[in-house]
Amino acid sequence: MTELPATALLETHDVTNQPEAAGDRDLWTDDIVLRLLAGRDGKDSALAAYGATLGQRETREAARNAERHTPELRPFDQAGRRLDEVIFHPDYHRFMATSVAAGYHSVAWEHDAGGHVAHAAMVYLASQVEPGHCCPLTMTYAAQPVISKTEGLCDDWSALALSREYDPAAKPANMKSGVTLGMAMTEKQGGSDVRANSTAAERDGDTWRLTGHKWFCSAPMSDGFLTLARTGSGLTCFLVPRWLDGERNGIRIQRLKEKLGNRSNASAEIEYHGALAYRVGEDGAGVRTIVEMVHHTRLDTAIAPAGLMRAALREAFHWVSNRLAFQKRLIDQPLMRTVLADLALDWQGALTLGMHVARSFDGHTPEDRAFARIGVALAKYLNNKLCPMVVGEAMEVLGGMGYV
Ligand SMILES: Cc1cc2nc3c(=O)[nH]c(=O)nc-3n(C[C@H](O)[C@H](O)[C@H](O)COP(=O)(O)OP(=O)(O)OC[C@H]3O[C@@H](n4cnc5c(N)ncnc54)[C@H](O)[C@@H]3O)c2cc1C
Repeated sequence: MTELPATALLETHDVTNQPEAAGDRDLWTDDIVLRLLAGRDGKDSALAAYGATLGQRETREAARNAERHTPELRPFDQAGRRLDEVIFHPDYHRFMATSVAAGYHSVAWEHDAGGHVAHAAMVYLASQVEPGHCCPLTMTYAAQPVISKTEGLCDDWSALALSREYDPAAKPANMKSGVTLGMAMTEKQGGSDVRANSTAAERDGDTWRLTGHKWFCSAPMSDGFLTLARTGSGLTCFLVPRWLDGERNGIRIQRLKEKLGNRSNASAEIEYHGALAYRVGEDGAGVRTIVEMVHHTRLDTAIAPAGLMRAALREAFHWVSNRLAFQKRLIDQPLMRTVLADLALDWQGALTLGMHVARSFDGHTPEDRAFARIGVALAKYLNNKLCPMVVGEAMEVLGGMGYV
């Protein structure tokens, strides 16, 4: 059925000079800067398809649903038995399925050349539409270099975390077609200073049992968490499966955070009650092991703000192209053009920096690795400091509607 237009001729006035909502957009074709920076042989078609899907009006509507209907904690079933599950809006699952199928979490590890650049381009595209679901997929991408080096894990976590199938069921990894991974480091007494972690690990045959709390644990429906806990040798990294064969692992979700942003995605406070865990990396080398995952999450947090800036700028551009003030389209007002030009420079700079760093993640020389290590921290810092200012200014361009 064709959608009927809203009624603009009202009893007291006609609605004029209010820009129509934008129709379908193509986030890849419309973005010449991205195409110049990411365009490489063979893999462009996947990025083009992803950008076109994300830009559809219907997809953007779905993103609003996922953001408006925030996740809900189900600690118990009706009878008071523990569930510790989080229910997400169906549109959140839809984004997870789309991005997993596109290879957001896996493309970096599937190609020798240019995989991280393709991954960064996907982070940038997805952040423009529904940044919430990026969190679990970024962590799944970032856990790969850690779990792929770990021998002796019960299931093939590395292969499952590369799967292009999204399987949100509450089932153990060996019964799933694909898994996602999270990380649990931060405790109440210290986040930056993770060496203050108090979660304890005790040996239980070939496995371990963890007891303690984690104050921030995003994407709590992930299938496993890379976790820091203390053994007799010091802080050690573990993989804690969310579900076991025939039972739930001892992971209790205490509550979900009431967050300022990233609302479609859940962030939880959790407790481990003798949770079964597998050691990852050397005993006592927990920080050295998990920092590899942290390093890769930084790439995504460096590039995502460029996506947020791009989205804000696009809305501003749409508005000024379709709104008149003082007998001229706003985009033809000289001062407005200056403002938009400044914003465009900020966005392009952020995107160029992020993609430049992504390229160093694809490099194989010691210089590439050294640059990736320091460059990603600086890019994360610079782009995230810049982002709120650019978005705020872009909102001002919309006048009062920017505030609304
Ligand atoms: C939305 C969200 C999701 C999150 N998800 C996860 C997750 O999934 N897993 C997880 O483990 N954690 C997660 N975190 C936690 C995050 O990693 C921590 O909040 C972060 O590491 C900071 O730790 P903190 O909050 O304890 O702050 P603190 O470490 O107490 O820092 C407070 C302030 O002091 C500054 N500071 C710290 N040390 C120094 C120093 N030496 N010199 C000068 N200044 C310093 C910091 O920069 C900061 O400004 C999440 C956080 C948020 C907001």
